Amino acid sequence: MTIAQIFERAQHDGTLPVSFEMFPPKGELSLERAREVAHAFAPLAPDFVSVTYSAGGSGNNAATTHIARMINDELQTPSVAHLTCISLKRADLAAKIEEMRGAGIRNVLALRGDVPDGAPTGPGCADYRYAKDIIPALVDAGFCVGAAAYPEGHIECDDPALSIQRLKQKQDAGASFLVTQLFFDNQYFYRFRERAAAAGIAVPITAGIMPFMSKQQITRMVFMCGASLPSPVIKLLARYENDPASLRAAGIEYACRQLEDLAAHGVDGCHVYTMNRLDVARAAMSALRR
Ligand code: FAD
Repeated sequence: MTIAQIFERAQHDGTLPVSFEMFPPKGELSLERAREVAHAFAPLAPDFVSVTYSAGGSGNNAATTHIARMINDELQTPSVAHLTCISLKRADLAAKIEEMRGAGIRNVLALRGDVPDGAPTGPGCADYRYAKDIIPALVDAGFCVGAAAYPEGHIECDDPALSIQRLKQKQDAGASFLVTQLFFDNQYFYRFRERAAAAGIAVPITAGIMPFMSKQQITRMVFMCGASLPSPVIKLLARYENDPASLRAAGIEYACRQLEDLAAHGVDGCHVYTMNRLDVARAAMSALRR
């Protein structure tokens, strides 16, 4: 089943699609470890699982296709393979399309990617500048294509109106669903959803939520993506600064309250950045299916 069909069915049935993101674990045993993570998630019955891709050719990118195939074939759960275009040449995209088609992948999240430190950039390094540039070829190849959305705007773009226009370009290029960047204040998402609708963005937008696990993790994330840290989160980070277990529990609890509020506000879907953690996936699912 494609992700677009999952959202259509949920709209028809009045249900809420819940999805998980996982990443290919590093190291030689990554596929075995990924299999363990995915198998642990399966009994929670997510509507789909997306698998990240290391931008710019860093990391083990072949693993994304393998893991997405394994999730489809072994767990009978629809998967989404992420793909970044930051250093992709036309021939690379054609080869990637063949690889994913050969593996029976049906859904792709088209991304630009963040430039990894030390990766070559500039003229001649890539044939695609923005995520929207690879969407038509993926759609033509028969994939159901999704793209990234930013409730607080992308970190490189200060103008919210421009950010929405650029998002609309992804829909116009053929994206049929959107997954948002993490946010810690749902009000940003609700305002963004209104602006997107007013701009003619009609494809389903699933809200991405990541629990904070440590001050270090959250600092890295907010500096990478520009999400705001609201005062309740800062207070929890301060209260449990020297108590990592309580901080993790508070982070998961906070994310669960966000998810419940999103569900109550009729979002199209909830996407959980699990960080490959079963406790996160389990807590999120139990908050949403309660
Ligand atoms: P784009 O849509 O190309 O946007 C990048 C920047 O270019 C933005 O500032 C945008 O405003 C600007 N822009 C877009 N179009 C135009 C235009 N026509 N003219 C001028 N400027 C323009 N990264 C990974 O490396 N691997 C992953 O697996 C991964 N998964 C992700 C999943 C989700 C749900 C999200 C939200 C992000 C993910 N990322 C991932 C991070 C993502 O790659 C970065 O946020 C990246 O900086 C932007 O990617 P994009 O696809 O949104 O880029």
